[in-house]
Amino acid sequence: MSSYPSLRLRRLRKSKEIRDILSETHINLNKLIMPIFIDDNLKSKEEIKSMPGIYRYSENELIDLVKLYEDIGIKSVLLFGIPKVKDNLGSEAYNPNGIVQRSIRKIKEETNLVVMADLCMCEYTDHGHCGIVRDGTVDNDKTLGYYQKIAKTYAESGVDVVAPSGMMDGQVLAIREILDKEGFNDIMIMAYSAKYASSLYGPFRDAAYSAPSFGDRKTYQMNFSNSREAIREIEEDILEGADIVMVKPALFYLDIVKEARRLFDLPLAAYSVSAEYSMLINGSKQRYFDLDSIIKESIMSIFRAGADLVISYFTEYIAKNREIFIS
Ligand SMILES: [Zn+2]
Repeated sequence: MSSYPSLRLRRLRKSKEIRDILSETHINLNKLIMPIFIDDNLKSKEEIKSMPGIYRYSENELIDLVKLYEDIGIKSVLLFGIPKVKDNLGSEAYNPNGIVQRSIRKIKEETNLVVMADLCMCEYTDHGHCGIVRDGTVDNDKTLGYYQKIAKTYAESGVDVVAPSGMMDGQVLAIREILDKEGFNDIMIMAYSAKYASSLYGPFRDAAYSAPSFGDRKTYQMNFSNSREAIREIEEDILEGADIVMVKPALFYLDIVKEARRLFDLPLAAYSVSAEYSMLINGSKQRYFDLDSIIKESIMSIFRAGADLVISYFTEYIAKNREIFIS
């Protein structure tokens, strides 16, 4: 073992070319997932105020959008729907002809993109909670039956990956059971396993009109002071049959990503959420940092922590500017 003065690590950073060949982490479009909001109320796209550059799209714009995504090298998308009508039971979520179900069918018909669909009820219920409310709280086991109905309609529409995000106990098992029972044993489940009750979801609620009308989501989403519990959540989802597990949000939770990577062999996703996007956009507008540099550093940090897949609102921007981001 040599040490200073014969050991000099600055040799490893002497030029850009040397730094490039010694890079341990890379940004790869195969590993980035682009979220899409499809709004059944729109005739044409609307920018989400709190997420500059991100839009809610109308159904008739969807095909052009996803074809463009495919052309610029994006491989997978994660769908979120905004229905025309919301009710107590979130019935549009499991309408076989609902906005997400129609979108899945269209995208699968027109492209080879891997189509993932978020499975939850908060965009579809009038109270904005992620399940069926009874006595002022979300009834876990009753909600599971509704998640099964949603999963079945997604599967029938041709989805590749069902992504339950409601943090109900037993949701992965319930969904695996219905998928297998209905003959969809080749459809994957990407579980939002360690999803924290985070303030970083603010702009998303704006995007999907999904803020809860009473209370909060702290009885189902995780307490951000806990990390061991996150590991238990992930273990639980693996036992229930998850194919991909996820940590959400990403940047404030890289310790969880790293620990999950160390402990589990499943593909691991991290969701870099709406406020992570908005903070970086706004910080760059204030000239606190350069946008391209901060995107690169932040995405790289999530991969470096051990994520295999990163869900990022910057995916489209990265694909359009691949010479900057992709080595
Ligand atoms: Zn939800």
